[in-house]
Amino acid sequence: MARYLGPVCRQCRRERTKLFLKGERCYSLKCPVSEAVTDRHSRAYPPGEHGRDRLRQGSEYLAQLREKQKARRIYGVLEQQFRNLYLEANRQPGITGENLLRMLEMRLDNVVFRAGWGASRRQARQFVRHGHVLVNGKRVTIPSFRVRKGDAVSLKSTSRTMFAVRRNMDTLDRQRPAWLEASENGFVVTVLDPPLREHIDEPIQEQLIVELYSK
Ligand code: SF4
Repeated sequence: MARYLGPVCRQCRRERTKLFLKGERCYSLKCPVSEAVTDRHSRAYPPGEHGRDRLRQGSEYLAQLREKQKARRIYGVLEQQFRNLYLEANRQPGITGENLLRMLEMRLDNVVFRAGWGASRRQARQFVRHGHVLVNGKRVTIPSFRVRKGDAVSLKSTSRTMFAVRRNMDTLDRQRPAWLEASENGFVVTVLDPPLREHIDEPIQEQLIVELYSK
């Protein structure tokens, strides 16, 4: 179960946008791509030795590649797993790009993030790996586990008092999406329906990803 272990903010700098991969820090002035950071401290240019000099020619392929990388990084999925998801989305009826985003949203680590228990998808993933999360009363430790309609995802009763969880729930003020219904003071979320495109607020142009993989 591999995952990206390198520097995180570098990924945002590569995409030249905030991907909100680090929780609280992303909303502070410590964020290197924050518009509010003074010029002297801002690092809103691509990483690497030649990041600042690099004048990139815009091309169709580059736009498609960057969109795919952005989606992968937002959801914390490595290349092969992402490609497999695309192939599965392509086999399903409906619009391939929307199928792909729906499958990404229904990952267990994303549901934990959307429930407001984790400050970031990385932290949500750690909660799952450390056995704090139950699906229909059973412990599931696989972040990529895909929830289904009617599944009840909950935090283990002993984990509900964890400082990180309490702080996130008290301070994040994150809107829960319409496809999740919360109960038991927000410690249980039930999947009402698979999310529709309008429920997914990530700034991803999924059509570009489909075009890239269809070549
Ligand atoms: Fe991205 Fe957050 Fe780092 Fe800012 S602080 S660059 S949004 S991961």
